[in-house]
Amino acid sequence: MAIYGNQQYLYTPTGRADEFADLHGPGSKAPFSGIYKCVVCGFEIVSEEDKELPSHRHNQEQGAVRWVLLVRVFNGYILGP
Ligand SMILES: [Zn+2]
Repeated sequence: MAIYGNQQYLYTPTGRADEFADLHGPGSKAPFSGIYKCVVCGFEIVSEEDKELPSHRHNQEQGAVRWVLLVRVFNGYILGP
């Protein structure tokens, strides 16, 4: 579970946000910079956009490592409602 200090610095997108549902295997390129979580065991990492997502110490008997994006780094401007 990612931990943060100030909710004002987090933004919850409205509408579809498939980037937070797509699963990625080790060796695939991270689609965004941010925090990723292994959905099988809960291990979290930080990765930069276009860097290969790693494997990690993971009990393969639980299933293969699958990363999901938890928190995406964003340096653009978000329009208000
Ligand atoms: Zn894992």
